Amino acid sequence: MTWRATALTLFPDMFPGPLGQSLAGRALEQGVWSVEARSLRDYGIGRHRVVDDTPFGGGAGMVMRPDVVSAAIRDVGRAGRPLVYPTPRGRPLRQDDVRRYAAGPGLVLLCGRYEGIDERVLEAEQVEQVSIGDYILSGGEMAALVLLDSCVRLIPGVMGSEASGTEESFSDGLLEYPHYTKPASWEGRDVPDILLSGHHAAIAGWRQTESETATRMRRPDLWAAHLARTGQDTGGPVS
Ligand code: SAM
Repeated sequence: MTWRATALTLFPDMFPGPLGQSLAGRALEQGVWSVEARSLRDYGIGRHRVVDDTPFGGGAGMVMRPDVVSAAIRDVGRAGRPLVYPTPRGRPLRQDDVRRYAAGPGLVLLCGRYEGIDERVLEAEQVEQVSIGDYILSGGEMAALVLLDSCVRLIPGVMGSEASGTEESFSDGLLEYPHYTKPASWEGRDVPDILLSGHHAAIAGWRQTESETATRMRRPDLWAAHLARTGQDTGGPVS
């Protein structure tokens, strides 16, 4: 069955954008997944199809109207698909969320512009709010494309090698180990000897250690969660 995405946006031409290329693009052509972009402008008010207004309480910028956004949402057949609003105010998007979304029938994505969307419609329509990072984009379309890319690559048949989805960063709560390829020596830098040893158990052990070291050094938040999950003592602050 096709994994279906619907984007509600003021810029429908931004879809599928880069997802029309490479493996995702091929899977799109093959009907493994689909994306329909609907213009929020079609639900706008009056002759000028107005979708936004000034914020109550004052302040800069404009806010997307709840009546316009809800009309668009209610016109979409959700068919069991989560309705997701990418926003910096959302919970951080994690690979666990992506796995859950990819395993379902698809997604409906609400793309914000201006200062964002009237809070009441987010409550009324039980919208999941997710952030793709602690920075501000000018609109939700790029965030929606990021979210779609992360999901689509997990749909069976999209990626060349199924194994890569289970061995990469976050699959076991840790960052991945570093990668090396030919040449074995490059500009005076050699590939770690162990990787040339052919000793599979030793290589697996080295990769696990590298994975743990990278996570401890770069992502103390993930490392603390890993220690808690595996029942290990934190041994004080990360150095
Ligand atoms: N006023 C909002 C705030 O400070 O939280 C930012 C609004 S932003 C200019 C416009 C739209 O871009 C948002 O409604 C959201 O859809 C999208 N957006 C911006 N940054 C994002 C992020 N880090 N993650 C997900 N969506 C984002």
